This record gives sequence, C-alpha cells and structure tokens, in this order.
Amino acid sequence: MRFPDKETLEELRRQYPVGCRIVLDEMDDPYTKIPIGSQGECRGVDDAGNVMVAWDMGSSLSIAYGADRVHKVSTEDEAAITLNWHGAHQLKTDSRCPRCGDMMFGPTARHALSRYAQIYVCDRCGMEEALEQAEIIKMKPLTEWCAVKLPSIGGGAWRR
Ligand SMILES: [Zn+2]
Repeated sequence: MRFPDKETLEELRRQYPVGCRIVLDEMDDPYTKIPIGSQGECRGVDDAGNVMVAWDMGSSLSIAYGADRVHKVSTEDEAAITLNWHGAHQLKTDSRCPRCGDMMFGPTARHALSRYAQIYVCDRCGMEEALEQAEIIKMKPLTEWCAVKLPSIGGGAWRR
C-alpha cells in the first residue's frame, strides 16, 4: 500500500473537489457490486488519497488510491446521466436552474421541462433550448451546465 505525498494529495483534491460528479472506471475489489460506469458525487479526498464517493446507487465505497480509477463527468452522455439523476432529486419548490444556476421560485414543475434530460430548467433556459433546437443559437453543451460544471454553486440547490 503506497500513500500519496503532500503535492499529490493537493493535486487530487484540486482534481476531485467536493460535490463534483464522477464516473467509475475500474475497481480492484472482487466483492464490489458497483458496476463500471456508475456515477456518484465526490465527498472529498481523505489523507490517504482515497476519493470518498456517495454513489447514486446508494453505496459509499471509497476509491482506493493507486488501485481504483475514476474520472469526472466529461462527456455529453455522462452529463445527461448526471442531469437525469439531479432531475430525480430536484427540489419541488424554490429549486435552482441546473442550466444557468438562477433561482426558480415557486413550484419547480411550473418551470420548463428540459429537452435534453428529465429535469426542470428556468423559463429563460427553456426558451434558449427551443432556440437551440431550432438551430437559431448554438447549443450549450450539457457538460457546461451549472449542475455539471459547478456543482457547489449556491449550495447546489438543485439537489438537497
Ligand atoms: Zn436557467
């Protein structure tokens, strides 16, 4: 078992900030039941370099430093999975728009349902999505959405 030095630890913490969404690439544990490709939310990096994760499926098994591999959500498909997950956990009232980060006051379901994922966005973003699909404006990549890129902004009010 090798432990990371201070610089490596700092680099790991920069790479995996608390709240970022991550994807499992490899887990070197024969008893693990977390499928490759599963997503979860980073809860930090401990002093041994293990990435602590709250997996969407319910487990909280850490990613062992030097043994297991993860990466941050980085493709459009991965971002869509993240947004669907956020959508399933979106606050029913006074939620935050996962696309732009603005507050959506009142009942969330009164706002616009996204065309890209099962999640509500603010009315302005709903309008922009319509313009994107009409090819009037360029599509904002899902990986650029607030809920994917800056999970900790505003306390992440699109989740709990
Ligand atoms: Zn918005």
